[in-house]
Amino acid sequence: MRRYQFPYIPTPRGRPPMRWTDTQEPTTCRRCNMHWEDGDPALTIACTGCGGPADEPCRRRSGGNERVCACRDEAAVQMELLTRCEGLTWDGRHEKPLLLRERPIAHALMCRSVRTGAPVSRWTS
Ligand SMILES: [Zn+2]
Ligand SMILES: [Zn+2]
Repeated sequence: MRRYQFPYIPTPRGRPPMRWTDTQEPTTCRRCNMHWEDGDPALTIACTGCGGPADEPCRRRSGGNERVCACRDEAAVQMELLTRCEGLTWDGRHEKPLLLRERPIAHALMCRSVRTGAPVSRWTS
């Protein structure tokens, strides 16, 4: 006997959707093609907006944490870790979302959970 299955629900029992990433893997801005071999420089400092510690993704409760808070990018620019994006943006921020995976990566130096509803990235190795 087959039980009736509900349609796919992204957040069962209120659990936030979770993805996994490596905050120190190489990343490239999709707008200006600037490349960071050791990952997003904004991730090397703690975030004052959501309290995310250094080397960890942002922790906004609302999710979407594959992108850092605007203030984290801004702080990194102030500390000269990051330049403003010269691509076509309205806010000068680089487009450099973390690559998302379905499960933790064993070989990652910094394998961190990301609270987001975004699908797994297509560009992961
Ligand atoms: Zn943040
Ligand atoms: Zn850029």
